[in-house]
Amino acid sequence: MLILVLNAGSSSLKFNLVDMSEEKTLADGIAERIGLSEGFIRWTIQGEKGRLELDMANHKVALSAIMDQLRDTVLPPGAEVDAVGHRVAHGGPNFGDSEVITPAVLKEIEDLAFYAPLHNPPAASGIRTAQEIFPGVPQVAVFDTAFHHSMPDYAYTYGLPYELCQKLGLRRYGFHGTSHKYVAEKTAELLGRPFDACKIIVCHLGNGSSITAVHNGRSVDTSMGLTPLEGVVMGTRSGNLDPGVLTTVMEQEQLDAAGLSALLNKKSGLLGISGVSSDCREVEEAMGKNRRARLAHEVLCYGVLKYVGAYAAAMNGVDAIVFTAGIGENSADLRAWVCDRLTYLGVKLDAEANKVRSKSGRFISTPDSRLPVAVIPTNEELMIAREAQRLTANA
Ligand code: ADP
Repeated sequence: MLILVLNAGSSSLKFNLVDMSEEKTLADGIAERIGLSEGFIRWTIQGEKGRLELDMANHKVALSAIMDQLRDTVLPPGAEVDAVGHRVAHGGPNFGDSEVITPAVLKEIEDLAFYAPLHNPPAASGIRTAQEIFPGVPQVAVFDTAFHHSMPDYAYTYGLPYELCQKLGLRRYGFHGTSHKYVAEKTAELLGRPFDACKIIVCHLGNGSSITAVHNGRSVDTSMGLTPLEGVVMGTRSGNLDPGVLTTVMEQEQLDAAGLSALLNKKSGLLGISGVSSDCREVEEAMGKNRRARLAHEVLCYGVLKYVGAYAAAMNGVDAIVFTAGIGENSADLRAWVCDRLTYLGVKLDAEANKVRSKSGRFISTPDSRLPVAVIPTNEELMIAREAQRLTANA
């Protein structure tokens, strides 16, 4: 079964073509600057990198050009994709699982733009495009929020008037669900224990970051909330704040909701604190001589440390901590900062193992560490492909 995984952003379209017989990625890449000048598509197809300069008026032009490349290279003559899996950021209160896309499902995804104005409209547009280009091919929506539907009400309820929360759907939803689930499952495998019988804290740290407590295979708490703004500081997002800061800044800087949203989403986090970059690697490079870069990094590390403590408490124990995504997989500095302060939980970091770069999952704690710590590369695209297969294999 060949599954095309699509992740549509406002001006980009990421794609992966996965052969499910071996769960192998045959091709992946991204079309960028859709709807803008100087558009291009870059890809890796069966290990070969390629690039095409192409101005693309919309996602349909982009997807057609991507499919031309795939047909010229990796798709067997006459073969078509069997299903398309779409990454959709927000599933709101009703989608607790992936869904085969029907007109009603698509309408609900569009209506959920209320919660995710930056993410859901492009995802819906990606779905419509794929429906046009692959008529009759089943399409599946995989929601970033779905894995977190298992949270108990006391973990997802905000301390606001209950009726207001009901009316507006205000609650913690959480994101990166496919990544948290994939990485937690892999961690259980690495531990040699059943997924449904262990307590795992997953630290997904990338441009966007979230931390999840996975208890017996289910998400029981997660650091992102109604939107992906809550939690630890991120590349350009603020993470947690005293809500009083918001009214103060709005009043003092005469910001309206759009201005506040831009401040919190685009100008804050590592970039806002350091003034250097939103990119953790660049912040780390600068922190030897730049005090604010050092501060930004420490604020992130400290945030991760606090969530680990909180989630160990939430689960009344923890069997493994795991780091994933761009920062989690690559920043030995961050992992060491956090793990050196978790000796009370029994963590003993293996300093050498922590420095090794590897694309496979591994422990970075010593064999006698009471609490194992692992690094596991995430693979959200494979998870989306598996979901698309699960929901359409018998269609
Ligand atoms: P996204 O959330 O967009 O998927 P990624 O998971 O790719 O992002 O993570 C991007 C982040 O990973 C960036 O902040 C980048 O600097 C960071 N990163 C990548 N490599 C390293 C590295 N070697 N050291 C520190 N940070 C790194």
